[in-house]
Amino acid sequence: MPSVLRVALPVPLPTLFDYLPPAAGEARPGSRVLVPFGRGKAVGVVVETEVESALGGARLKQALRLLDDTPLLDAELMKTLAWAADYWLGAPGEAYANALPLALREDKPLPDTHEEVWALTVAGRSALDAGSRKGGSRRLLETLAAAPLGAAELHERLPDWRDAARRLAAAGLIERVRREADAAPQPVTAAPALSAEQHAAVDAVGAELGRFQPFLLDGVTGSGKTEVYLALIERVIAEGKQALLLVPEIGLAPQTVRRVRERLGVPVEVLHSNLAEGDRARAWLRARDGEARVILGTRSAVFTPLPRAGLIVVDEEHDGAYKQQEGFRYHARDLALLRGRALGVPVLLGSATPSLESLANVEAGRYRALHLRARPGAIRPPQVQIVDMRAQRLEHGLSPTLLAAVADAVARGEQALVFRNRRGYAPVLLCHQCGWHAECPRCEHPLTLHAGRRQLICHHCDYHARLPEHCPSCDAPDLKPQGQGTERLEEALAARFPDTPVLRIDRETTRRRDAFDELLERLRGEGPAILVGTQMLAKGHDLPNLTLVAIVGVDEGLHSVDFRASERLAQLIVQVAGRAGRASKPGRVILQTHHPDHPLLRQLLAQGYAAAAKELLAERRSVQLPPYMHQVLLRADAHQREHVEAFLHEAYGMLLPAAAQAELAIAGPMPAPMPLRAGRHRGQLLVEAGSRAVLHAALRPWARGLSALPSARRVRWSLDVDPVDL
Ligand code: ADP
Ligand code: ZN
Ligand code: ZN
Repeated sequence: MPSVLRVALPVPLPTLFDYLPPAAGEARPGSRVLVPFGRGKAVGVVVETEVESALGGARLKQALRLLDDTPLLDAELMKTLAWAADYWLGAPGEAYANALPLALREDKPLPDTHEEVWALTVAGRSALDAGSRKGGSRRLLETLAAAPLGAAELHERLPDWRDAARRLAAAGLIERVRREADAAPQPVTAAPALSAEQHAAVDAVGAELGRFQPFLLDGVTGSGKTEVYLALIERVIAEGKQALLLVPEIGLAPQTVRRVRERLGVPVEVLHSNLAEGDRARAWLRARDGEARVILGTRSAVFTPLPRAGLIVVDEEHDGAYKQQEGFRYHARDLALLRGRALGVPVLLGSATPSLESLANVEAGRYRALHLRARPGAIRPPQVQIVDMRAQRLEHGLSPTLLAAVADAVARGEQALVFRNRRGYAPVLLCHQCGWHAECPRCEHPLTLHAGRRQLICHHCDYHARLPEHCPSCDAPDLKPQGQGTERLEEALAARFPDTPVLRIDRETTRRRDAFDELLERLRGEGPAILVGTQMLAKGHDLPNLTLVAIVGVDEGLHSVDFRASERLAQLIVQVAGRAGRASKPGRVILQTHHPDHPLLRQLLAQGYAAAAKELLAERRSVQLPPYMHQVLLRADAHQREHVEAFLHEAYGMLLPAAAQAELAIAGPMPAPMPLRAGRHRGQLLVEAGSRAVLHAALRPWARGLSALPSARRVRWSLDVDPVDL
């Protein structure tokens, strides 16, 4: 038997691939190799060496070349990835591919990790001293005189720096140099004196540094969770170690990035999906070299190598953005815990509205809970008021109480936020003559009217159609928008408050890269304003002059078939409400609903999130739903419904013997909650068990068998472990 390499290749197949070792070099686990694959070549990661191949040596191909003399992925990451691929029942190659930045999945030399920075030349310093430059050029000279900076840092400070840089470089006043290792920014802000609760949290986690221990930091919005993270990160850095800080979305958190950089005075790598691939690869490599001390990033940053790991923090741990919804469907929070265990470091999960999963883990003694109950300083929690819409005359969906409260806020020179989680002008366009309504031909769901763009858009598949002038069915001219989206609310509020700026913040108004930042910058100033926004505004932005939050149109969440809808709604309401009154001014929250007596709303307002979550957890336990039951969802879609049905039926048949033995519960095959999407029919099969181990033991062979089913070739299918939307 020849000694062979077992290699992970980035393909959606449930196997690893065997190759003979390359002619030169010693391939080790974690090294990349270039191998022949199909009719071409592929870069893979060596998972095992010296394995005995089931295939005869004569049939094995030889790896073409070894790309890394020293393994690129260290032993810890290799171990964690193997676990992760097994846990999420994913194609192992896809798990490894997720862990490597795209630029490192190519047959190219590793990029130089030292980025270039802009610095003043001698002539540049003289020009600055002589005051010979004005405007943007002068600002850039001043900024670089303080410290040489890279493109990303300059972009944060002077968004329009590029033109000035071009002029100054042409004049020989600035130049690009390699960043020196000690060119880290100096800390410019001091930490506040921590409150007693913050101290207690820092001490509790601090006492566990050096071993694995999960913590849940449960603290209301604005209670100073970020200060706890920073204090712990400072401690970890002082010990010469690295910290990983995960946030749900960086685009929405430029303030956090700035805050971390200005506080810590060590190199902070920021990893997010808008990063150029070369930059991402360099940041990843600097982390792997131990040079990057703090890694701040979104979901995929959970795969960053941490050879000197000290701490992992997952901020807003309840956020759905941590779950990857395609390909390798991992959950970054859960993966962070796997890594914390393998690395032997504490994992700190933080949220004002913890997920029921994490609360159940606290209840079971697996996580230790830490609480921040007070807001520092004199910040009072906002007053919440329910407005019963049933007896009110509504103006574009807004009640008189709400409009009066907005008027009060702007009269005091303060800002008000009207929250509506729906983009566009109206969710439905209806013909009053014949009852026709605009529907997506590919999803059979109503199209959303976007009035400014004069289009009908499907929010499920992005189908676009021109706005018809007459009813396509009866030719009547009176097509009426039904319901309100943010665009319509913006219009109504602008008409009602002509002297106050009305700003809409949703995916449409912030499509341009810096638009969101610019809008936030305008709002951080003093002066009255009315904001209309979606979910994007629910995340932690400090808007000191925002004192009123009005939540409209959340009733859908009270009647959803999705068992997680109540949890999500409670989190959303509490997070949005938390935007009000963050600074010295007290906040007020208005919740407009047709169901003022709904028990969830009542309890949430009377007793707060913790009590509501406890109740929801008790419900989940009594009806045996996650986190007390474990689920795996098989999804399939195809243009023809018969193909979906045939595949799910075969998959079901193949599972039956194991299901009977292991007492698995199977629901389906059945149509997905949205049975048609983008022209494809969708179906699913849900498998449940009370024990994760039992579920996995039964499903592992099944998962491998699925791709061998002939019917699998006619559908697109995926397995989702712990699915978050059914
Ligand atoms: P969270 O992350 O829980 O939303 P932050 O850490 O962002 O809270 O804190 C909210 C605000 O309170 C910030 O402006 C922060 O600077 C301030 N803050 C936090 N802790 C303290 C403290 N101990 N003393 C004074 N101000 C604090
Ligand atoms: Zn009609
Ligand atoms: Zn559609």
